[in-house]
Amino acid sequence: METKRSKELFEEAVKLIAGGVNSPVRAFKAVGGEPLFISHGKGSKIYDVDGNEFIDYVSSYGPLILGHAHPAVLAAIAETAQRGLTFGAPTELEVEMARLITSAMPSLERLRMVSSGTEAVMSAIRLARGFTGRSKVIKFDGCYHGHSDGMLAAAGSGVATLSIAGCPGVTKGAAEDTIALDYNDLEAVRGTIAKWGGEIAAVIVEPVAANMGLVLPEPGFLEGLRKLTQESGIPLIFDEVITGFRLGLSGAQGLYGIEPDLTCLGKIIGGGLPVGAFGGRAEVMEHLAPIGPVYQAGTLSGNPVSLSTGLMTLKILADNAIYSQLDERSVKLSAGIEAGAKKAGIKVFCSQIASMSTVFFTEGPVTDYSSAKRSNLGAFASFFRSMLERGIYLAPSQFEASFISASHSDEDIEKTVRAAEESFLEML
Ligand code: PLP
Repeated sequence: METKRSKELFEEAVKLIAGGVNSPVRAFKAVGGEPLFISHGKGSKIYDVDGNEFIDYVSSYGPLILGHAHPAVLAAIAETAQRGLTFGAPTELEVEMARLITSAMPSLERLRMVSSGTEAVMSAIRLARGFTGRSKVIKFDGCYHGHSDGMLAAAGSGVATLSIAGCPGVTKGAAEDTIALDYNDLEAVRGTIAKWGGEIAAVIVEPVAANMGLVLPEPGFLEGLRKLTQESGIPLIFDEVITGFRLGLSGAQGLYGIEPDLTCLGKIIGGGLPVGAFGGRAEVMEHLAPIGPVYQAGTLSGNPVSLSTGLMTLKILADNAIYSQLDERSVKLSAGIEAGAKKAGIKVFCSQIASMSTVFFTEGPVTDYSSAKRSNLGAFASFFRSMLERGIYLAPSQFEASFISASHSDEDIEKTVRAAEESFLEML
């Protein structure tokens, strides 16, 4: 595969941009080589600056559930942009977006739009602290909640990929206020609440964890979290930045039938432009300024262009039987890859739910960050490189999920499974 132009651009980028990338997950550090520079995308495909074509399973890490450059989404952007980009004053689009989200996820009685998932989580945690008057937050190892100070402890995604244990720049106070427990370990939560209950402002969880690779909640884990937090008056925050509108219109909370106190959203609700949101019980949300004392703000919060992109995406999702088709293709992809590995005698553990999946290079089961870390990272790197050579673009890390979009065809899935079969054989 010719990658001359990408190499030239990366050489220049490292002299101008820290590490050559504007987000660490884009680096190829964990898999070797240099990142490809993308020129454009259409549907399920992306094209690099050297003209190579790939079936894309990164989907910009989640937002692109309709695929690249969907015509109706592009038309919505153009139409809205004609009328002005941002006003610093309310628009009807904000009410429409709030109506749509709150009807899909009734636990959000009130919400606030922000500009990223990081901002949504940071604001939800401040609000939970302001509401309870407490400081400590329970999170789970390997879950990623954006890069705000307190949430970097034992975080997944790029932090896991680069094996960053403690992040310099995070104050001792911020780190001390975060209690990191094992995902799926309800007993640890019970014990911690028993010990620190009166000091805990929130429990935050990815209801389906997708930042240590895809790790599913064990039966009873989320229900148990809800029960324990309710009994002790601790707000439960579902970080649905990935799962919101990915697992279905009502997200993980709809799928598992659990009402968190607060929810964080991002990715799909922006349809590919920068957006986040947080919301929840009115009683909690009304502690926010201007009605309450907890301050939170944003110059571009709820900006019209992002909202029209997100709204068009959500409307298309609501109007079509997209989710069942996504599920079908995702099952086919995961099962095909698992069978290919088995045929080659390579030990993998495949996890899949809705349109997300991960192939862990370990026998498994993978139930938390420790078991995810047992994966053979060298084997993943070889698999990644073989797949790339065959025109399949995966995230350059064992600790990320693959996302399919409504534009991934049966043919794309079949081609990917064949590429995986060949890649497994090449690895022997
Ligand atoms: N929460 C989760 C579950 C995420 O996966 C991410 C990003 O990947 C974030 C929060 C942070 O979102 P953003 O990158 O938009 O700041």
